[in-house]
Amino acid sequence: MSTTDQVRSAIQTAEDGERLSRLIVELQSSGVRINTEFERRPGGAGPSDAGMIWVEGQPLTVPVDAEFVAGTPFSLEAEDTGFGIYRDGTRVASAAPADRPRYYDMSTADGTPYWQIALMHLDSLASTVLQTCAYWGNDDQCHFCGIGVSLDSGNTVKVKRPEHLAEVAVAAKELDGAVDVTLTTGSTYGKDRGALYVGKCGKAVIEASGLPVEVQFEPPEDLTVIDKVADMGINSLGIHVETFDPAVLARIAPPKARTGIERYFEAWEYAVKRFGEGQVTTYVILGMGEDPELIVEGCKRAADIGVYPFIVPLRPVPGSLMSDVTPPSAEYTDRIARQVAPYLIERGLTADKVQAGCARCQACSPLGAIEQSLQLEASGRKLIPVTEAS
Ligand code: SF4
Repeated sequence: MSTTDQVRSAIQTAEDGERLSRLIVELQSSGVRINTEFERRPGGAGPSDAGMIWVEGQPLTVPVDAEFVAGTPFSLEAEDTGFGIYRDGTRVASAAPADRPRYYDMSTADGTPYWQIALMHLDSLASTVLQTCAYWGNDDQCHFCGIGVSLDSGNTVKVKRPEHLAEVAVAAKELDGAVDVTLTTGSTYGKDRGALYVGKCGKAVIEASGLPVEVQFEPPEDLTVIDKVADMGINSLGIHVETFDPAVLARIAPPKARTGIERYFEAWEYAVKRFGEGQVTTYVILGMGEDPELIVEGCKRAADIGVYPFIVPLRPVPGSLMSDVTPPSAEYTDRIARQVAPYLIERGLTADKVQAGCARCQACSPLGAIEQSLQLEASGRKLIPVTEAS
């Protein structure tokens, strides 16, 4: 089987889940040295500088090119029949690096290569529909972002057309098994912040391919824009505050700080009424100097109104203002994720219920694997017969 045909597999036992979720968080923090031929994704927004690997059936994006990866104990090695993840030379997991998607060899009628329109992230198709942002290149630029990097590299199209995205989505579904589509956009100067255009693109994708779609945008000035996007049939919505620590937000993402964390809560509350609990998500990036207590508190408050907080360790994007920052330690990310995951389970807001997008995919976060392992542990506890003492 080609690794393009890889299907994600559910974690089977609580022990496997525990072992795998700990491994995932370490791989995301330390990165993996690649000692074999490999498909990678350079630059850009989203999981940039990312190696895309299936580890024991779990999708994973991991740092592979950054300088700090030279010190990682992990490597990806070719084996007689497949691949393995090794820690200091000892095999710790089976692996399958993502193949070059088949649709990457196709082009639109006007000669635009499909891979310049949307990229395959393991089993998810993703595109930045407007590859420009009102804040890029000025004092407002978000420090972790790399939206202008791919544009400068010439690897992508500045404005993706809805009909092109629809065409690529059909090919990615049929040839490479894409199961959903994530569409994001740079912020515009318009009052809708680009929401209506990314929504229009999502609608075209859904109509052509039938795939569920997540769209992502900043809180629009007029929240009824969210109704218009919902009316387009979009499945899930990402409105990303990035951190719940106001001091960090002011330093790292000035325009988002001006919007204010409270305004994100207003937008989320409005959006949950239209998209439903668990279909509205926010990125929460760890490792930017935040107060961990504010993060856990903010994640729980978001969950209380039906928003899924998608916790990810910082992935320093080459070419971004944080390119030389090292990701947070595995222990730090694990500690926060393990405080949030049980709360999400209690609220019924787990990754497996998200229809589309980053929180559905989970390749950049340890949260989904932790949720699975905790759920298995809880169901195991219920299944063990209790013998009463006489
Ligand atoms: S709003 Fe910030 S994170 Fe989003 S595209 Fe613009 S600079 Fe990047």
